[in-house]
Amino acid sequence: MSKLVVISGPSGAGKGTVVKELLNIYEKKQEPLYLSVSATTRSPREGEIDGVNYYFITEEEFEQKILENDFLEYNKYGTGKYYGTLKSQVFTYLNKGYDVILEIDINGYKQIINNYKDAIGIFIMPPSLEVLEQRLRDRKTETEENIQKRLKTAREELENIDLYPYIVINQDGKVKEAAFEVYNIIKKN
Ligand code: 5GP
Repeated sequence: MSKLVVISGPSGAGKGTVVKELLNIYEKKQEPLYLSVSATTRSPREGEIDGVNYYFITEEEFEQKILENDFLEYNKYGTGKYYGTLKSQVFTYLNKGYDVILEIDINGYKQIINNYKDAIGIFIMPPSLEVLEQRLRDRKTETEENIQKRLKTAREELENIDLYPYIVINQDGKVKEAAFEVYNIIKKN
């Protein structure tokens, strides 16, 4: 049976790199895994590609999709931007036999577990809030105001961590280990 997996964790925890490594693990094992592409109203970061990292859409387009019931879940994040999971993304791939990963925030996870009891929730933790702040600064893509908003949201998310049955710590330089931990969690469910 295909599995719906939710990966959450504060911005800067390294979810993206862990998921990338997880995709490699599935590929090596020739098992199908799909990373759902969300829609967002935030601007692309340097190097991000529309339709690959996100569907970058306007606030009007996003609100139209809400009205049309296109989202499995959506949220207005701490930065004031919308993010949402498109039903079309998830069901197309689950039906094809892929495990599907949603890399979404805690608000999105709450909406998912209300409707899909079998969804597997995994929270990726940074080793500490100091490391998290450093990683956000190292990106050099965020304004100071946005870094502060992301840190505030991170503290709120860490308070809700007990909603997740699984917690994986992404230690510096140990991305492969973290990804294998995630893989093993998915497989034992
Ligand atoms: P970022 O701007 O760093 O790409 O994402 C900010 C936050 O939004 C992250 O915690 C990310 O996981 C979350 N996010 C990304 N896509 C979605 C989505 O489709 N739904 C929800 N609820 N959160 C999302």
